[in-house]
Amino acid sequence: MLRVFQTDILDPEQFVVTLELVPGRESTGRSVDTVMGIARDAFADGRVSAVSITDNPGGNPALSPDAIGYRIFSIGMDVIVHFTCRDMNRVGMESRALQLAMIGMKNILVLTGDYSGKGFGGQGAPVFDLDSVTLQIMLMLIGKRINAAGDPDGYFTGCAVSPFKQTEGECLAQYAKMSRKVAAGAQFAITQLGYDARKFHELIGIQRHMNLQIPTLGSVYLLTPNAARIMNQGRVPGAVVTDRLLNTVVREWQDKKNGKTAAIERAARLGAVLKGLGYRGIHIGGIHRDFSTAGMILDRMAQIKDDWQEFLPRFNYPQPDGFYAFREAPPNPAASPVFGQHPQPVPVVDRVLYPLMRHAHDVFFNLDSPAAPVFRTIGRTLDRGMAGRLFIHLAEHPIKRVLLGCQRCGDCAIQHVGFLCPESGCPKHTRNGACGGSRHGMCEVNPDRRCIWFRAHKRLASKGKIKEMCDGCVPPRMWELNNTSSWLNFHLGRDHQSNGSEIAGFCRQATCRLLTEEESPVTKY
Ligand code: SF4
Repeated sequence: MLRVFQTDILDPEQFVVTLELVPGRESTGRSVDTVMGIARDAFADGRVSAVSITDNPGGNPALSPDAIGYRIFSIGMDVIVHFTCRDMNRVGMESRALQLAMIGMKNILVLTGDYSGKGFGGQGAPVFDLDSVTLQIMLMLIGKRINAAGDPDGYFTGCAVSPFKQTEGECLAQYAKMSRKVAAGAQFAITQLGYDARKFHELIGIQRHMNLQIPTLGSVYLLTPNAARIMNQGRVPGAVVTDRLLNTVVREWQDKKNGKTAAIERAARLGAVLKGLGYRGIHIGGIHRDFSTAGMILDRMAQIKDDWQEFLPRFNYPQPDGFYAFREAPPNPAASPVFGQHPQPVPVVDRVLYPLMRHAHDVFFNLDSPAAPVFRTIGRTLDRGMAGRLFIHLAEHPIKRVLLGCQRCGDCAIQHVGFLCPESGCPKHTRNGACGGSRHGMCEVNPDRRCIWFRAHKRLASKGKIKEMCDGCVPPRMWELNNTSSWLNFHLGRDHQSNGSEIAGFCRQATCRLLTEEESPVTKY
């Protein structure tokens, strides 16, 4: 196993460069040659610690990162494999993880993944059996098994995070999930793409504030008008290019040569700013033809790295009414974050339903309550025969269907998502926090619907319960309970809350990296 990337990023003296490569939809020919050529030149150049290979970006089929990554790996270049939750269930994912371990490719960037795109014969089935937190935990636990079997090297896993969210709820959802990912074993982080230095600064400040010691790479990109336009339209989930930046880029590229020079200069300046702000390195994207452009970005960065403060005003592309967790802009040191200063109205339906459901949950679904043994006895009686199970089905399902769009998963997780259903409400079934694709509070997949985590934040904030967004973590759905009564499963100790599996045990004792409610600057709404 090559350890170049791991050694470099764990060395605080090093400034790490990684390069994102995107394989095509062929197993041989030009697209493979291009990716291999870039990787070979990056290796010869010597400044790139690893190339990262995307996993069916945009949900569209492409050559497996494991296959082309292995070929790159064998020329001596270290590789980070992207591993998403979209295309395989947990069985396939575990098998893939073992395969990666066997061939020595253990740098893994764990991602929820873009939603399913079009493949053979139409759109693919979205799987999302695990989310990025539970996949991290799975890799950590497999890593321990591998160690016990005699391989001393576990996986070196990382996560993505985006400070470039427009609303407070989305920002908090990102930061809370980052803390879960770190608790789940993430050892490095890579940001999404954005052009707002104040937001980059915010992420570093929040990590310090939450005591999350995770080396982080900031994304820089060779921004062409085409890429800028697609990102501006929200078609690259998580990447933010504002209207003003798009206009600037289009103007610069009226003359192609001038446009490319400006794009290289922007990437180099952003790299210098990120270094100045305390990022451990940069993750370069948008290099699709040859390595020479990435080389030019790095050459220019080396020339201007000490002038980074001069470039700060060049990365001032805020989103309209965008939220900032810190009052001060860089280079001032981040003080305490200010959350909850501009409370947004909680919709009437959430204001009414949330306290009602929370109260009902506390009364009927509390294993510590004195009534719990009574419910367990009733549950046992009902569970004994068809008639009892039919009765509970008729009592439970219609009400949960109307209130939550319940899909009878049998392993209810509403209490972890502000009493919203991650099965019916989130196309990626996220149980541990938002994916990176929400935009202005709306869902990546259904842009006419609000992201459930944006809604959950409002509900929780209205009761001063934000910490619940990162308390412990939530194990994956137990598919063996599909189409059964979640009420019976809860009281009879069959669901994830009582489950004795390794991952459930880990989730119960995982500590939240957000400060405690008393210490936290989070103001109650
Ligand atoms: S509801 Fe939120 S977390 Fe789920 S897919 Fe949409 S944006 Fe992502």
